[in-house]
Amino acid sequence: MATVPASHPVVVLGAGWAGLTAALTLARAGVAVHLIEAAATAGGRARSLDRDGAELDNGQHVLVGACHATLDQLRSVGTNTDHAFAALPFGLRMHAPGRPHPALALEPRSPRLPALAGGLWKSLAGTPLHRRLPALLGAASILHRPLDEDHDVREWLQTHRQPDMLIRQLWEPLCLAVMNTPIRSASAQIFQNVLRLALNHGPDDARLLIPTRPLGSLYPEPALRELRERGATIETGRRIVAIEPGGPEARYQLRDRNHRVTYANAVILATAPSAAARLLPAAPELQPHHRALMAMGERSICTVYLRYPGPVLERPPLQGLIDQHGQWLIPRRVAGEPDWLAVVISTADDLPAMTAEERWRRVAEELERTFPELGIPQTGHVVCERRATIDARVDLDALRPVAGTPWPGLFLAGDYVTPGLPSTLEAAVRSGLESAHKLLETLP
Ligand SMILES: Cc1cc2nc3c(=O)[nH]c(=O)nc-3n(C[C@H](O)[C@H](O)[C@H](O)COP(=O)(O)OP(=O)(O)OC[C@H]3O[C@@H](n4cnc5c(N)ncnc54)[C@H](O)[C@@H]3O)c2cc1C
Repeated sequence: MATVPASHPVVVLGAGWAGLTAALTLARAGVAVHLIEAAATAGGRARSLDRDGAELDNGQHVLVGACHATLDQLRSVGTNTDHAFAALPFGLRMHAPGRPHPALALEPRSPRLPALAGGLWKSLAGTPLHRRLPALLGAASILHRPLDEDHDVREWLQTHRQPDMLIRQLWEPLCLAVMNTPIRSASAQIFQNVLRLALNHGPDDARLLIPTRPLGSLYPEPALRELRERGATIETGRRIVAIEPGGPEARYQLRDRNHRVTYANAVILATAPSAAARLLPAAPELQPHHRALMAMGERSICTVYLRYPGPVLERPPLQGLIDQHGQWLIPRRVAGEPDWLAVVISTADDLPAMTAEERWRRVAEELERTFPELGIPQTGHVVCERRATIDARVDLDALRPVAGTPWPGLFLAGDYVTPGLPSTLEAAVRSGLESAHKLLETLP
C-alpha cells in the first residue's frame, strides 16, 4: 500500500469529477488525501442546483454508453447506472421552427453501418439521387476512414460530400452537442473520435443516457461519502490562490485568500484550465504547461429551464431544434420533474446579449411555435456557464498539456488534459484516473 505522511498528505485541488476521481483513486490505494474545493458544494461544472423547489443541474448533461470510465466510476461509488439514466437507443429527431413533424429523423434499427446507412438514405429523401449516393459513401468514410491531418468540421464534411441540408440539420447540431464548438472551427479529428467511440462498437455504446437524478447524487455526493469513510479530509468553500515550494516543511504549500497555508508532499491540480493557469507556479520549467493552459480557450453553454403550469404532454426524451435559439430539448419528466423542460444552448458566447428573462421567453416562444400544445410556461430559469468547456478547435490535441509536470509530485487533472476527447465527464474521469495513477507510480 502506498504511503504519504498524513501530516503532509496529497492535496487534490478541485472537487469536480476529475478531482473526485483522482482523490478516490488515491484514497483507495491507501494514500492520505486532502481535498480542497473553492465552491460550497462538490461537482464543479456538473453539479446540482435548487430552483423553485426543483433540483436541477447547472447544465443538462447527456452521456453515451461508450462513457465506460464514467459509468464504472459511478458504479464504484454504489450508483446503480441502470436506474440513474434513461437509456435511449441511438436516434435523432430534428425539428425546424413552426413544423411539429421532424425535418430530419435518423432512427436506425441499430448503430451498425448498414442500418445507419439505411437511416441516412431515408433522411436524404429530398436530395437528388446523384447527390444521395456520394453523401452516403461520404458519411461512411466520416465514420471509418482515419484522418491524415486535422481540419475544421465544416471543411471535412464538405470534402466528404455532405449536402448543406444534412450539415445544417444533422452534423452541425451534433457537433455543437458533442464539442460545444462551431463547425467552422471545431476539430474534425476530435469529432470523429467521438463518433467512432459511440457508433462503432454496437448498440450499448451508442445509447444516449439522460440522468434521471440530479448529477450531485450520481457521483459527487457518494464520492465524498466514501472519501470521508476512508479518512480523507475535505474542505469546501476554500479558494486556494497560490501553490508554492513548501520549504523545509514539505514539497509544497498552498495558500488561500486568508493566508492560511496547507502543506503537501504532492498536489493534483484539478481545476478548469484558466484557474490552473493562475495557480501553476511561474517557474521557467513550467512555462510550456503555462502556455498550453493559456492556449486552451473556453466556451459557454446556457441551459434554459422552463416550468409549465402542469405536466408537459408526453414528448420524446430528446429532440433536436434546428435554426432556433437552443439546439436540444429534453423534457425533465425523465428526471421526475414532469412540469419542466430543459433547452440546451451550446456555444452561447455567440448569442446576442439578453436578460435571463428575455432569453427564456424567447426560447419558450420558439418552442410554442413548433409545438403549440406546449403553451406558455409559468416561469423560467437560465443557467449560463461561461467556461463550460474548452474550445475543441482544430489541432487542439497538439496544445494539450500532459498530466505530469517537471516539478516532482505536481500533476494536472481535468477534462482538458485527456487527449482526443472534448470536454466531457468521460474526459474528466479518465484524467482523474490517469493523474492519480501517475502520482502513485512516484510513491515509494
Ligand atoms: C452547461 C454544461 C453542460 C455540459 N454538458 C455535458 C454533457 O452533456 N456531457 C458531458 O459529458 N459533459 C458535459 N459538460 C462538461 C462536463 O461537465 C465537464 O467536462 C466536467 O464536469 C469537467 O470536470 P473537471 O473536474 O475537469 O472540472 P471542473 O468541473 O471545472 O472542476 C474543477 C473544480 O475546481 C474548483 N476550483 C477552481 N479553482 C479553485 C481554487 N482556486 N481553489 C479550490 N478549488 C478550485 C472548481 O470550483 C471546481 O469545482 C457540460 C458542462 C456544462 C457546464
